[in-house]
Amino acid sequence: MRLTRLHVDAALAPGDVLELPPDTATHVAKVLRVRSGDPVVLFNGDGRESAAVIDAVRGSRVSVAVGESRLIDRESPLPVTLLQSIPRGDRMDFIVQKATELGVARIVPIFSERSVVRLDHKQAESKCTHWRAIAASACEQCGRNRLPIVDAPRRLLDYLGAATITGTRLLLDPDGGSAARGAGGGAADDRIDGAAAVEIAVGPEGGFAAAELDAFAVSGFLPVRLGPRILRTETAALAALVWLQTRSGDLR
Ligand code: SAM
Repeated sequence: MRLTRLHVDAALAPGDVLELPPDTATHVAKVLRVRSGDPVVLFNGDGRESAAVIDAVRGSRVSVAVGESRLIDRESPLPVTLLQSIPRGDRMDFIVQKATELGVARIVPIFSERSVVRLDHKQAESKCTHWRAIAASACEQCGRNRLPIVDAPRRLLDYLGAATITGTRLLLDPDGGSAARGAGGGAADDRIDGAAAVEIAVGPEGGFAAAELDAFAVSGFLPVRLGPRILRTETAALAALVWLQTRSGDLR
């Protein structure tokens, strides 16, 4: 039976006894119904995982005794940064969860010209905390011992103006060239073979505006089309991650 994995934002030294954070403790005590002596696995995102045992359960307070740790790498060899236009409703939650399972290294939530979602500073902070918690929970489920970085949401043009180019840059565009043939003479498949890192941008429900497409071009993004159908933004993000991981990452 697979052991319950718990993310904790704390140092994990063998011999320590830790109190689990309230939300985690409530979940393991009330939903998973752990008992004193049950084995669990703890990780804090540093790449290691620690064997641990439930020390005590008192109502919804739970303490764990930390055992030996070992380095277990389940990261993709292809670091992918997903620039995702924030969609309506809870679709961003879905994207963060699935992208984490698919090994994304970094997610940058962006507001683009046609984004329907508008968040003030406080709402953006609280959404970001929420998305980070979703990513941590997806790591608990899928076995990753490193958490993807989830940036604070920002305007697309601010990101493009500030980002340093570190690898291959791709723009998902239904009017772009196919992944195999590329647009403007560049084949995306060729660019990601052996790429050190990939950034991939996905538009909102209404697509990117013309000025944004120009800004992507100036910033060195290659437009890529994924097949002949228009995909919803969340489908496009996940299809792209599967394509990248299959071509050059750990789904090969
Ligand atoms: N009419 C919009 C357009 O032409 O861009 C459709 C937007 S689509 C619902 C949302 C986003 O998903 C797009 O901006 C694009 O980034 C991505 N997308 C959807 N289908 C795609 C495809 N077949 N190829 C590449 N990207 C796609």
